[in-house]
Amino acid sequence: MAPRMKLTLCHLYPDLMDTYGDKGNILSIIYRCQKRSIEVKVEQITVGQNLKSNVYDLFFFGGGQDKAQEIVATDLAQKAQSLKESIDKGAALLSICGGYQLLQKYFKTQEGKQIEGIGLFDAYTLGSTERMIGNLLVQINPKIQTEISTVYPNSQPQLIGFENHSGKTFLSEGTEPLGTVLAGFGNNGQDKLEGAVYKNAFGCYLHGSLLPKNPHFADYLIAKALEHKSGNVDLAPLNDDIEWQAHKTAIQRTH
Ligand code: GLN
Repeated sequence: MAPRMKLTLCHLYPDLMDTYGDKGNILSIIYRCQKRSIEVKVEQITVGQNLKSNVYDLFFFGGGQDKAQEIVATDLAQKAQSLKESIDKGAALLSICGGYQLLQKYFKTQEGKQIEGIGLFDAYTLGSTERMIGNLLVQINPKIQTEISTVYPNSQPQLIGFENHSGKTFLSEGTEPLGTVLAGFGNNGQDKLEGAVYKNAFGCYLHGSLLPKNPHFADYLIAKALEHKSGNVDLAPLNDDIEWQAHKTAIQRTH
């Protein structure tokens, strides 16, 4: 019998950054992998712990309040080199809201305090007095959607999630967005862009949890992690009727 495939997932700062059930994204990945007999080892890494290089196939970094972000930013600077190295070697990453902001160049809070990011995404965030809250519907960047379709045939071209942030993110020229906003605010409520992409690393404002109701994106991330692990991606299709029902129901709430 072929040896069981095993993915190693790093959950960054789970004690400080876990807004609106972001952890559900990890449960979704574990569930979808289990159904394919893929083992997922989850390691939680927080402040003061060493982030080893070349160990993780997938990273998850959720959202958190400004105060938590400040604590995390100082520590993340020490982990930056290792994290960037892993991403440059093809590991996958999903970051949401506060986590996404800390992977940019900087986040300047409403009070004018600059929290330094690690610059994985060529982008920055400015705190504002506007709270951008509600369901967020995104048309996936066509380049990403083409890749998703090879992993998940008959997929939908949209992502649905729930945003709640006051930071406004601006992408530098040349930085690919994850998609464009069909309903909601996205990166900043102005340029209709949402999220950012760097190699197999993704940032977005989609809480929710995101992955349980966006199975195509969940499988895409798993595929990226498998590719990193073994170069071999073979994901048997699952029955996602309930997941797509959740996807559609959430979309209806945007109108
Ligand atoms: N400080 C951020 C903002 O409000 C992060 C919020 C979050 O992660 N939900 O913009």
